[in-house]
Amino acid sequence: MSMKSSVTDSNSLLNLKGVGPKVAEKLLRLDIHNQHDLLFHLPLRYQDRSHIYPIGSLRAGVECQIQGEVQLSEIKYGRRRMLLARLADGTGFITLRFFHFSNAQKEQLKRGVRLLCFGEVRRGKAGLEMAHPEYQFLKQNEDVVLDENLSPIYPTTEGVHQLTLRNIMSQVIAKLRADEIELINLIPKELLAKHQLPTLKDALLYIHHPPVDAQLDELSEGKHLTQQRLIIEELLAHHLSLRQLRVAMQKEKAPLLNNEDSFTKNFLSALPFELTGAQQKVIEDINFDLNKSSPMQRLVQGDVGSGKTVVAALAMLKAIESGYQAAIMAPTELLAEQHYQNFKNWLKPLGINVTWLSGKLKTAAKREALKQINSSEAQVVVGTHALFQEGVEFIKLGLIVVDEQHRFGVHQRLALREKGSSENGFPHQLIMTATPIPRTLAMTAYADLDCSVIDELPPGRIPVETVVIPDSKRDAIVQRVEQACSEGRQIYWVCTLIEESESLQAQAAEDTANLLAEALPQVRVALVHGRLKAEQKEKVMQAFKAGEVDLLVATTVIEVGVDVPNASLMIIENAERLGLSQLHQLRGRVGRGSQESACVLMYHGSLSENARQRLAIMRETNDGFEVARKDLEIRGPGEVLGTRQTGIMQMRIADLQRDQELIPQVADMANQVFQAFPECVEPLINRWIGQAKKYAAV
Ligand code: ADP
Ligand code: MG
Repeated sequence: MSMKSSVTDSNSLLNLKGVGPKVAEKLLRLDIHNQHDLLFHLPLRYQDRSHIYPIGSLRAGVECQIQGEVQLSEIKYGRRRMLLARLADGTGFITLRFFHFSNAQKEQLKRGVRLLCFGEVRRGKAGLEMAHPEYQFLKQNEDVVLDENLSPIYPTTEGVHQLTLRNIMSQVIAKLRADEIELINLIPKELLAKHQLPTLKDALLYIHHPPVDAQLDELSEGKHLTQQRLIIEELLAHHLSLRQLRVAMQKEKAPLLNNEDSFTKNFLSALPFELTGAQQKVIEDINFDLNKSSPMQRLVQGDVGSGKTVVAALAMLKAIESGYQAAIMAPTELLAEQHYQNFKNWLKPLGINVTWLSGKLKTAAKREALKQINSSEAQVVVGTHALFQEGVEFIKLGLIVVDEQHRFGVHQRLALREKGSSENGFPHQLIMTATPIPRTLAMTAYADLDCSVIDELPPGRIPVETVVIPDSKRDAIVQRVEQACSEGRQIYWVCTLIEESESLQAQAAEDTANLLAEALPQVRVALVHGRLKAEQKEKVMQAFKAGEVDLLVATTVIEVGVDVPNASLMIIENAERLGLSQLHQLRGRVGRGSQESACVLMYHGSLSENARQRLAIMRETNDGFEVARKDLEIRGPGEVLGTRQTGIMQMRIADLQRDQELIPQVADMANQVFQAFPECVEPLINRWIGQAKKYAAV
């Protein structure tokens, strides 16, 4: 949120005591470019250093400040060497425990010295203790200066100590208090009054130095009015920015994709099924957009298995019938590859040329693909995000489809839009996601888009029967797998590890595959994980699809998009560790054909109450929107999209999920700003989004 345009000398970091060029450079890593930015660098949490607690009154679990005299100090040699010091103040004593300490520390912490300590009190073997407290020495009769406010703890970066940062911060805060720093209130007074919000200055002063009687729990949850004041402003800036983009896009030109040809008809008559009513309705929405001379910006939400790919194909055919190219981008190699196979099977017979582009292509193949894309040879292009990297130049791109959009961030989505533009305007954009997000949240996250929902599954789908079983019953599950194979069914066995490390995941899957192959000699077992080469992955998936493999052991790489309708049993290990939406996505890999499918959620150890409830939801419903809604009830909004998806919008202070109840208020404010205070729009966007507005490269 740098304010480059208004950087004056008085705003420079170098004017602060304790900030030289070196520190200033380190602060850049926190996105702090000037004094103004510092004001928006908010505390992570607070400590109460306004009291000194009598040691005799301490309880385990509290974080507090104490003072006293060292009565005894010793080094103990156990499994680990440690320094123990006993501190007493006349009301009681406490042990200070240090696992890491220097010789100097050992010398200084000797009998008779007075200390002021801050730390968390814990229960140890021999009474209460503090591990690695912060401490400072007190002279014999020195009076302690107590903080008058709660002390803020700021996010820091390597090489900038908390105390240094706090010292720098208190200088700018003093300037703010004395009105020596320029801070423009960008939410008009009328709106603040209407929504009963404090001014920016008052909010910031409070957040940086709350009074000692402030509600710490409110503050730590980001629920204090002063914090909400800032959160609302940030949400407002994002909302305005997306709405503005939407308006700007509507003024842009896009090709009319309204030519009728036989492709669509032939495609539909070759499909082995009828489109569902929901698919038809969404296609109507899309065709309506493609018939306009401004670019379509449409989001299609549809649960796993609702048939989004066919919808994408029909939109792409519209582009081709009008003489334009169409591209589809998928978030993983595996899914992109599958789309490539599908589109080839569907479109080649119609005489349409389908080109494949991924980052992993060999140089010669890549050059050939790029050449095709740059000529009219490539009509449909399928790929990963490599599609929109440097060097890829479409000659006549009419439509971009982004599949499983939630895997890409908002900024990537917007960057994409820029990439496809040419002097003829912008390509149409169709964005598809299987992650249902609550309506209010969509209001901001997708404020630049029109939305359609595929709210119906293809007929004949039988809900996946889901069971929850402890992994102590593994043998029985393995038998069930054997039984299923002998009936000609195909099976996924998903290995999950909490570690994000792909190599550990891959290792676990490999071990499992070996064990299963050994236990089930008649079963054809194969393995797929993220560490395999693209061609290997493709071979395995093809073999599975062709029915040459019975049991596919996989990591969560198969989570998005994979479609093998004959697979009808899925085993998920450590299911209790996964988010509900991820489980729902995974489970969506089965139940795609006409046979009855089952999903076994294996868990390890004993389930917490919360985990039990969450897995029960999976057992009770197959509906993605329902899963998302229940998930929200149990876990609170913070986690509903799962960790990997929290990045739908990068914000400094606001958290789209945590703060979603503020969104209607923000949307209302945005309307008022657009109508009555249009001059505030740009400055607000600049303050909060600033350079990020030049969206990150894809
Ligand atoms: P998703 O919405 O999860 O991307 P897919 O597009 O992969 O779903 O479709 C899931 C499966 O359903 C595919 O095998 C597809 O061929 C099939 N399918 C799509 N539409 C229909 C339909 N109207 N009737 C029957 N099967 C369909
Ligand atoms: Mg899909």
